[in-house]
Amino acid sequence: MTGKVEKPGKDIFVIILCLVFILLARPGLKAQEIEARGYEFLKKIVDRVSEANISTTIKSLQSFKTRNLLSESRTPDSGIEAARRWLIKEFQKIQGLEVVDDGYFLPKQGQRIVRDTELHNIVAIKKGKASRERIIVVNAHYDTIAVSADGRFHYEDVNTEAPGANDDASGVAALLEMARIMASLETEATVHFIAFAGEEQGLVGSTLYAQKMKKQGKNVEAVLTMDMISNIKAGNGYIDSTRVRVFSDDPNDSPSRELARYVKKVAEQVYPSFEVNLIYRADRFGRGGDHTPFVIEGYPGIRFTEARENYSIQHTPYDTIENLSVPYCADVTRVVLAATLSLACAPEPPLVTSDRGAPLLSRGQGYDAELHWKWDGDREKISGFKVYVRDTRSPFWERCYFAGKSDSFVLKNVSIDDLTFGLSVLGQNGLESLVSTYRMPPRRRAEFIFKEIK
Ligand SMILES: [Zn+2]
Repeated sequence: MTGKVEKPGKDIFVIILCLVFILLARPGLKAQEIEARGYEFLKKIVDRVSEANISTTIKSLQSFKTRNLLSESRTPDSGIEAARRWLIKEFQKIQGLEVVDDGYFLPKQGQRIVRDTELHNIVAIKKGKASRERIIVVNAHYDTIAVSADGRFHYEDVNTEAPGANDDASGVAALLEMARIMASLETEATVHFIAFAGEEQGLVGSTLYAQKMKKQGKNVEAVLTMDMISNIKAGNGYIDSTRVRVFSDDPNDSPSRELARYVKKVAEQVYPSFEVNLIYRADRFGRGGDHTPFVIEGYPGIRFTEARENYSIQHTPYDTIENLSVPYCADVTRVVLAATLSLACAPEPPLVTSDRGAPLLSRGQGYDAELHWKWDGDREKISGFKVYVRDTRSPFWERCYFAGKSDSFVLKNVSIDDLTFGLSVLGQNGLESLVSTYRMPPRRRAEFIFKEIK
């Protein structure tokens, strides 16, 4: 009997070739596997959000009749002071948080602060374990305002009924629920859960806090504001309970816009049944939010607001829980929680600028895109760096390359001038940092010595 005799070396050669191929392909594959692990962790935590807790907070806050900054506490259970005492107690019940009364005295000023007053932001701090301080600010406002009987604002009518269930007890309920869930978890970054006051007098509490952070040189990585996150039915009858709007300021490569993209990316993986609708605009027309004072100070900030607003209820005695959807508020809470936890557990974003503020991006040998970066964290804890590329006009990143643990990356024959580049770092725990964008350095005004010829 004759048979085909194969050379024994051939099989071994094929196996070795396969092994080499698998090993070479490994980094990209591994990064995806690691990321999947991170998303699984976030999914488990997000499942803990309780609608019952959210409902209780909204009902409790609306029971104070008004939380106007200038309201007088006529009974122990009404007015902003009573609400503040209740809220401080709620935060103090949570183990693992340091509760700070961030108080200010404000003399009578402008059109809206019609008498001398105190303003107290409530700050609950969850310490991170990173050696270099990193801060993430999640916030809502606990003060309210309502129009007077004639349907207009009279800022001296400080005791008008203003339950503010949606504006913004809904945000505070989400904040408290997030604090409860995150307090026992280990995070890298420190998280400040803040209930601001004086929002309705012109973002007063958040402005004072943002300016203080800036003055103290604090490293605030992200600011996430939740304001009106519980209404699903608009006055014109349109209903939307499946989306939340996220506002972020221009330009398209701003850190705020990048934070918004981050939220959408995380939400799509962790909570795909709910849509994050990115609005490329600082806020709604004619309206303000507590993220804006932080953006003005140079920090990345975004605002979460329901997809459909009901203008006839806002700032009236009818802004009560009966007109809201608690399940929708819980959905928004899950999205903000997933993003905040991801940011807090991810490594610090890489630095892509020189000490002089120039982007660490060059043309390499002439016509390549050569990216450099600085990152001085613990390399044992990271999986590697990720390079992102998109058209300058594109709303989202279009391509991604895994750069391993090196400090540079070259894209051959790619123009640095025609595309936008970004860089993130992926932790071994599967959670990714914010993307740092290579941006044009700010232009300075030129000064020449000259004399005009007459
Ligand atoms: Zn508001």
